[in-house]
Amino acid sequence: MTWFGSLTVAFVQALAPDARALADAKKLAKVSAWRRLGREGDAVWGVALGSKGDAYAVFARSAEDARCSCPSRKRPCKHALGLLLLVANGHAFVEEALPAGHRYT
Ligand SMILES: [Zn+2]
Repeated sequence: MTWFGSLTVAFVQALAPDARALADAKKLAKVSAWRRLGREGDAVWGVALGSKGDAYAVFARSAEDARCSCPSRKRPCKHALGLLLLVANGHAFVEEALPAGHRYT
């Protein structure tokens, strides 16, 4: 069983750095908030649109290691938390590599 098979909403909520990040993350905890979603082996990823039209990519190897390309200093940011909430809510991620251009470290 992968880590995201047993992730709970309560666990994700506990990761939130503050209430605002969690509130924003809940708005991202739906499929329509993402341009693309997928899973790459034991990792899940998502590409979200920022308020300025920028695309931000989240790549999560585990709940504690969810990285986002957005400029937020919050760790995890709302995008990472939103993606994790989708995972916790049982969204079935389709196996697909993170799209080229969104790869980062
Ligand atoms: Zn982010």
